[in-house]
Amino acid sequence: MTPEPDSPLTALAGVGPALAKKLERLGLYRVEDLLFLLPLRYEDRTRLLKLGALVAGERCLVTGEVLLAETAYRGRRNLLVRIGDGSGQLTLRFFHFSRSQEAQFQPGVRVTCFGEVRKGRAGFEMIHPEYRLLREGRDPAINDSLTPIYPATEGVQQGRLRNLTEQALTAMRRRPPEELLPEAIRRELTMPSLAEAILYLHRPPPDADVALMVAGRHPCQQRLAFEELLAHYLSLKNLRALADTESAPALRGGQDRIDAFIEKLPFRLTGAQQRVTEEILGDMQAPHPMMRLIQGDVGSGKTVVAAIACLKAMACGVQAAIMAPTELLAEQHCRNFSEWFRPIGLEPAWLAGSQKAAARREALASIADGSAPLVVGTHALFQEGVSFQRLGLVVIDEQHRFGVHQRMALREKGIGEAGHPHQLVMTATPIPRTLAMAAYADLDVSIIDELPPGRQAVTTVAIPETRRDEIIERVRAACATGQQAYWVCPLIEESDVLDYEAAQASYEMLTAALPELRVGLVHGRMRPAEKERGMRAFKEGLIQLLVATTVIEVGVDVPNASLMIIENAERMGLSQLHQLRGRVGRGAAKSHCVLVYKPPLGAAAKTRLAVLRDTNDGFVVAQRDLELRGPGELLGTRQTGLPEYRIANLVRDAELMPRVQLVAERITRDTPKTGTAIIRRWLGDAGRYGKV
Ligand code: ADP
Ligand code: MG
Repeated sequence: MTPEPDSPLTALAGVGPALAKKLERLGLYRVEDLLFLLPLRYEDRTRLLKLGALVAGERCLVTGEVLLAETAYRGRRNLLVRIGDGSGQLTLRFFHFSRSQEAQFQPGVRVTCFGEVRKGRAGFEMIHPEYRLLREGRDPAINDSLTPIYPATEGVQQGRLRNLTEQALTAMRRRPPEELLPEAIRRELTMPSLAEAILYLHRPPPDADVALMVAGRHPCQQRLAFEELLAHYLSLKNLRALADTESAPALRGGQDRIDAFIEKLPFRLTGAQQRVTEEILGDMQAPHPMMRLIQGDVGSGKTVVAAIACLKAMACGVQAAIMAPTELLAEQHCRNFSEWFRPIGLEPAWLAGSQKAAARREALASIADGSAPLVVGTHALFQEGVSFQRLGLVVIDEQHRFGVHQRMALREKGIGEAGHPHQLVMTATPIPRTLAMAAYADLDVSIIDELPPGRQAVTTVAIPETRRDEIIERVRAACATGQQAYWVCPLIEESDVLDYEAAQASYEMLTAALPELRVGLVHGRMRPAEKERGMRAFKEGLIQLLVATTVIEVGVDVPNASLMIIENAERMGLSQLHQLRGRVGRGAAKSHCVLVYKPPLGAAAKTRLAVLRDTNDGFVVAQRDLELRGPGELLGTRQTGLPEYRIANLVRDAELMPRVQLVAERITRDTPKTGTAIIRRWLGDAGRYGKV
């Protein structure tokens, strides 16, 4: 009896509870799930190759007659079987074999084998091929479709997966999955039907373009990827539609105070800052929560834009909170905001994990009774025990790793009498537009695509650590002219302690080598007050060379610093290096960045360093990072629960997004039920993550 598509896997022949458990590891629960487990590659057992036409490296099916079999001792026991077919010969080589196997290969016996052809000592050979002896008068078994190779999981053999998918395909033939893409859209996009695509990918005909399929670019794969992207997109849009029905304080007014504030700034806002500011202020007037993402390269001036948003909130009588990823950065914001807002009689409250109990109590009290209109802090801001009197705006700075769940959790946190707070997220990791469409479909995106005037590109060089003396001389020369420098210490994976020791060692080395300079040290294990003191001394020019761990990666702003040395650059990711480099090039002086590496440089590291040498544009860096590492790394999906895709690949398939968007709009408008079904098919219950 053929099982139903939505039966549990145990409905399939040969699947008991133990196997079902193993299959769960591949994300398989129901019969239909097997249809969406696509092969990684294919083997061609649809034709026999002549032994005279073999090519080394190819995996193929051959047949021949045993000419000779012998057991040889070359270090270890080898069973060598020479076969021939008139056009050529091939040696089969076995290291593990039984006596009965040895006895099988009598001269004259016919055998078919499948395996990889390699160049051996005496012509071509196959090591441990799959083989079968052919009885008199029988022809070798030739498949009529390419053989799929599925993603493996421990204890589930390919043969088993082929058998299970065969059963699922049989079930599908009887009861094809519902075609959810409207016919008109499929015709327009010349896409096969879902059932056609699935069947083709599981059992491709002999003439299928395997290279195209392995690259994931076959129309049948694109068909499935399209529907999957559509499902995720629709689901995020639903989430957004839900948010749009929620209320938020409509913040009207405050413009005169904002104008006065901008007037008094020591610089004029760039065109991009003005445009983005207007978009934000517009959002905040609406009675629904703002959900906006600001992308702006390092140094593009996001902080002041956030300050204006905070001012608007405060002027309209609600509280604003700004959250930074590190204490160092939060302290810097606190200092900036305090300077900017002091003239109008506002002092930000401070909340961070390391705070003393008394100070924390005081901060909590002022947040709760509303006497603190503005709070700056780390994620401590959104922990248990923090309650706002009337939170109207949440700004999250430098949040380049966050997923839907976190966004939602923050929104929920702020709910009060005034409704949901407005939410503004700022990131210096710009992602390409099509990827942003997919990952942040629930957010409005603004881009600050202009740097403040007078910024010069940072000149970047890569130098092996063997030339350290030269690098030290560069620091000496730069500081002698009144400039300041950062020295970023070797990165030690996942260890604060080792990071700290490495930083301490570099600090000692540099103080000894550069006795005439005032050298400071900042690392992650310092108490916040100490860090703060170090940073302040650097900012005020009391320290000329700041030795630091990667704690200074985000947000730190000291315009007079114009030289950055980064040790172990070969171990860091592109976006991280770009962030670090963004600490210089903020002032009028020409800035330089020296990427120090330990030779020899691997190919991937070489590419990364070359990208940084060649461009200062954060969008280009992000695009390259995406190509090199994939979206999971860039967006931090693993840590944050941004949903994983089963078939689509956000880098490879990003070009589908504009069409996905159009189709989503059409479905939402014309046949919303179809949208729900698509989400359900691809995301199951996860499709409702908006409601967590
Ligand atoms: P990021 O976008 O990396 O957070 P910041 O907000 O730290 O950038 O701004 C970088 C530097 O540029 C700061 O010193 C800031 O005061 C300055 N700045 C911001 N906007 C302008 C502007 N329009 N003109 C000149 N300097 C600006
Ligand atoms: Mg910043």
